[in-house]
Amino acid sequence: MEDIIRSKWNDILEHVKSEYALTDVCYKTWISPLELYSVNEEDETAVISVNDYLLGESSKEHINKKYNLFIQVSIEEITGFHINITYKNKSELENNDNNLKVSKLKTRAKNNLAFNLNEKYTFDTFVVGSNNSFAHAASLAVADSPLESEYNPLFIYGGPGLGKTHLIHSIAHHIIENYPDLQVLYVTSEQYINEIVDAMRNSKQDRTTLNNIKKKYREVDVLMIDDVQFIIGKDITQEEFFHTFNALYEQGKQIILTSDKHPNQMEKLEERYKSRFNWGLPVDIKSPEYETRLAILKKKEEKESIKLGDKILEYIAENIKTNIRDLEGAYNKLILRSKLQHCDISLDTAKEDIKELILTDDKIKITNDYIINIVIEHYNLTLEQINSKNRSQKIAHVRHICMYLCRKITNSSYDEIGERLGKRDRTTVMHGYNKIEEDLLTDISLQNEIDILMKIINHQ
Ligand code: ADP
Ligand code: MG
Repeated sequence: MEDIIRSKWNDILEHVKSEYALTDVCYKTWISPLELYSVNEEDETAVISVNDYLLGESSKEHINKKYNLFIQVSIEEITGFHINITYKNKSELENNDNNLKVSKLKTRAKNNLAFNLNEKYTFDTFVVGSNNSFAHAASLAVADSPLESEYNPLFIYGGPGLGKTHLIHSIAHHIIENYPDLQVLYVTSEQYINEIVDAMRNSKQDRTTLNNIKKKYREVDVLMIDDVQFIIGKDITQEEFFHTFNALYEQGKQIILTSDKHPNQMEKLEERYKSRFNWGLPVDIKSPEYETRLAILKKKEEKESIKLGDKILEYIAENIKTNIRDLEGAYNKLILRSKLQHCDISLDTAKEDIKELILTDDKIKITNDYIINIVIEHYNLTLEQINSKNRSQKIAHVRHICMYLCRKITNSSYDEIGERLGKRDRTTVMHGYNKIEEDLLTDISLQNEIDILMKIINHQ
């Protein structure tokens, strides 16, 4: 029973969200941090640990009152088990118990504000080349001594697909592992904007959410925001962000930001903030040279059971020069083909397969594959998941977003888009497209998601 509930835990939480139409913010704040702590099979009870960061002691009562029924029903619907649940605050569980399970939980609980980190984005998997060695060294320095670094804010900038997100996640993992007592908060701009906008909307009736959010951001030790350019120019969110920036900076807390441009090149950024972003010396990532591109492919190949072989890797590295996302895109495409066909790929097939990804003028060409790659990376999914028959809420949603954006941006036929997404038929694609278009009318978070993805794709 415990194994089954544990293995379905994410599905259960997503079921709570979708069945009871929770907003993104509600879900991220209360539901997604819930962890199954223990299950007693004899008396059919379970203990769930609750994120107590926002409401302290009363967190568990809040969850119990507001969400218990939803959670209980979802567990029953997904696993068939009817169980009674007790909620305990994470800190309470940490204090009571010393066993291994809890010590693991403890590290996570203390840093429970760094959601959405990609496990694969670590310093170990980051290949250092002349294009990124300075940014890498500065990132390591900050990760090694977060509250004493010379780089504050650490501002990493560079074009799309060059490794900014990979690097900032690496720093987060490193700090969480080595400084379990520090409160690390990592968000993408999109999450930040949604959280602030949502709180502002609710604050008309009740200011506590907004105050709690302000407090949450101003009390962390390390604040990390990916793609900060999307916050700049958004009036209210930008104001709020600068207050937080100042408050943290004055307390000597570490701030880490990434952006597509140097602060001085950010048109909508006011002068006084340009200089503030310059305080810690911005570090850039450039396009990788051939040797680095090849090294990145070889590093990826180490982890794969299927080997494309040196000749093909060299061919990809020689010809895909735009950025690392495209480089990986070409590589993943070939690996996927090899898996589907259960055979080795010849150099000629490889050439034919990635022909359209090779550009003569070094400009990024926005194809359906390019869009799909960006979207899946944004949501931490793989090409296989998107192409599969898996219909879990999250995967289906991301698939719909792919359909919508491909159609909007490349104006391809529904058939062609379906072909790229696991050979789905045109009516499925049309349905996905319509679903997003309809939801966009009312769902502000989704509007923001699509807006930011459009900007990433068009590199605005
Ligand atoms: P950005 O945030 O700058 O747009 P990402 O960090 O998302 O770029 O990188 C795009 C892809 O390239 C990711 O899958 C990432 O793991 C990979 N990548 C980027 N730089 C490196 C590197 N130096 N070594 C290994 N992989 C890299
Ligand atoms: Mg990024």
